[in-house]
Amino acid sequence: MGENSVGTEFRICTKCGYHRGFHVYFKKLQEGKAKIGLICPNCGQSFDIGWITSDIPAIDPEKGQVFER
Ligand SMILES: [Zn+2]
Repeated sequence: MGENSVGTEFRICTKCGYHRGFHVYFKKLQEGKAKIGLICPNCGQSFDIGWITSDIPAIDPEKGQVFER
């Protein structure tokens, strides 16, 4: 398998080739269910990997620790 193939790992953007993983976004689907999608931090391409969770009752983020760069 080449570096860009999606096999056991999805880490490389298939649009631009960025290889250091993805940001995530959350989209509320219905009460108690949210979709988790991925966004390439380099080119902005979003990916739907069919990741749906019922573990997020509402999209209401609380601020946590700030990690220095
Ligand atoms: Zn990309």
